[in-house]
Amino acid sequence: MADASTSVESALRYKRVLLKISGEALMGDQGYGLHPPTVDRIADEVKSVRDLGVEICMVIGGGNIFRGLQGSAQGMERTTADYMGMLATVMNALAMQSALEAAGVYTRVISAIPMDQVCEPYIRRRAVRHLEKGRVCIFAAGTGNPFFTTDTAATLRASEMRCQAIFKGTQVDGVYDSDPKTNPDAKFFDCISYDEVLTRNLKVMDASAIALARENNLPIIVFSLDAPDGLVGVVKGAGKYTTVGACAA
Ligand code: UDP
Repeated sequence: MADASTSVESALRYKRVLLKISGEALMGDQGYGLHPPTVDRIADEVKSVRDLGVEICMVIGGGNIFRGLQGSAQGMERTTADYMGMLATVMNALAMQSALEAAGVYTRVISAIPMDQVCEPYIRRRAVRHLEKGRVCIFAAGTGNPFFTTDTAATLRASEMRCQAIFKGTQVDGVYDSDPKTNPDAKFFDCISYDEVLTRNLKVMDASAIALARENNLPIIVFSLDAPDGLVGVVKGAGKYTTVGACAA
């Protein structure tokens, strides 16, 4: 007979997911950097999902600290600026690891750019093993290549880890045809195809990330990080969110 935890697991839609958040999600009301209570709150949400038996990977952006495009706009060589952006993501990953471990969640930071004294290098099979053991894996330093974003890194790692979905936490509760903050008549999508996101040029994720998700048939669930039921609710399919992917006719 199935015990209680097994029945909860079988009721879950997902066995393994990737959570993508921007660096800005960690800065709270500040204009820059890290806001520790906000980092702790997100860590608690991740713990709640992990405690349900869902395996979790994370990719965190670096925009709260440095963006390559900003640096190059100020005259810095673009690839150097992008490497600085990638290093910013490592700082955010370490902050999240610290918060998760304080909450009792075993966590590994895994960097696309080797920095052995700081975190693990990316080795796919090793990362899979961490997930199987219930550890949260935070993939840092993006793809390790300039001219990409952490959205593409999220899609790449989710595909490599065979995640069933990417959960993209944002400041809005899903995808609209225009900005709901400025247009009260903006139309909300329960589900939208990859192609429509691309042709309408909706700012869900950058185009290379959407194209990679489409090739791998990887759904992207767009939800608000302030959702009343939190990440746990959205992972269970409750509350408001948009699915980017194959929609029922
Ligand atoms: N970046 C990069 N390659 C990658 C991922 C990130 O060069 O594969 C750099 C890029 O400069 C980017 C910065 O890291 O601006 C921070 O990432 P991103 O802008 O995606 O962060 P977010 O907007 O999600 O906070």
